Amino acid sequence: FDALEAFDPDIAGVLLSELGRLRSGLQLIASENMSSPAVLTALGSTLSNKYAEGYPGRRYYGGCSEVDKAETIAIERAKALFGADHANVQPHSGASANQAVYGAFMSPGDTILAMSLPMGGHLTHGTKVSFSGKWFNAIGYGVDRQTEDIDYDEVERLAKEHRPKVLLAGGSAIPRTIDFARFRAIADEVGAIFWVDAAHFIGLVAGKAIPSPVPYADVVSFTTHKVLRGPRSGAIVCKEEHAKAIDKAVFPMMQGGPQMHTIAAKAVNFKECATPEYAQYATQVIANAQQLATSLGERGIRPTTGGTDTHLSLHDLQGIGVTGADAEKRADAAGIVLNKNAIPFDPAKPNIASGIRVGSPSVTTQGMGTEEMKLIAELIHTAITQGDGDPEHQVARDVRAQVSELVERFPAYPR
Ligand code: PLP
Repeated sequence: FDALEAFDPDIAGVLLSELGRLRSGLQLIASENMSSPAVLTALGSTLSNKYAEGYPGRRYYGGCSEVDKAETIAIERAKALFGADHANVQPHSGASANQAVYGAFMSPGDTILAMSLPMGGHLTHGTKVSFSGKWFNAIGYGVDRQTEDIDYDEVERLAKEHRPKVLLAGGSAIPRTIDFARFRAIADEVGAIFWVDAAHFIGLVAGKAIPSPVPYADVVSFTTHKVLRGPRSGAIVCKEEHAKAIDKAVFPMMQGGPQMHTIAAKAVNFKECATPEYAQYATQVIANAQQLATSLGERGIRPTTGGTDTHLSLHDLQGIGVTGADAEKRADAAGIVLNKNAIPFDPAKPNIASGIRVGSPSVTTQGMGTEEMKLIAELIHTAITQGDGDPEHQVARDVRAQVSELVERFPAYPR
């Protein structure tokens, strides 16, 4: 860091102020986390310099003996961690991993059946603004109006009607565990590939805190930076019969040279995931998310589906008469970072939204437990019902003072 600071104080300053931001507030974005110094060390290493197109032992460049070791370790650890036949650790991100899955199993014009974005899916699951909706025929399923959980009967009906090449489960705002056996049965009924995008919850699977999609799915893609707590990146695990197709789709179909420093960081993260401490963390992530959902619900901030089985809850703000956009702004002013989110059947526009999404990974990484979640729920409620989005407002100041006291007890990246 000293060399950076001496040469480029502007960027060194940003690095320091971002660390300060992380340390001073509460990070409740469900897709974020704080990876370990070991992971960050691998990320900031000389492995970033190396070109290594291809796979271990089959590269298009010389000098790959050392990075081959890193990638082989990452692959073997991923396979062991998830009980998978095959792993590809080269995708640069979740979207890149998903692109490769499309590349492996679909041709332009083919049909995919996936959860629609407003119901909890992801952009890459067939929205019109993404390659996935432009190049493929994407059919969207949603949630049941009553339970607000995935409408499995609708999935089955749409699968029979549209006979998709690929059936996709997973999304970005699904508080409940997914019935993978039911999805598998539907995929088999119509002869579809069953793909799970486990980006959000794979960290809970790694910690053995929720059921794994790996035994059921043909292919599982995921990000490595959410609950999993690794570097910002992606990966894919699949059945042996799809190994070649997936590898070819990642490179050379969709990507060029792999980022070897990130692959090394993924290997470090997979090792962390196999420890008893990690399993404890994963269990606590869920306990904390459940407590947050319950405590917010008790204050009239209703959790959709009635709660959560995972690391995130989605809350309907209509009962307290606040929009998602206002809630996000008011929380932010009070030192609490969360995001507005559409709720199922949301009457508001997506950039306003009627809900917020709240996640427990970061605060759990900081060591907080259910008692702290009760306090956080109270602070969120105060900030979004009494604040006005101005950081100088007395309510924002008061909440920030309590946030400061809390994060002092549970520091991010302790000194
Ligand atoms: N898939 C899901 C379900 C996600 O939630 C996300 C990111 O939020 C992605 C894919 C994309 O990941 P990335 O942002 O790394 O491209």
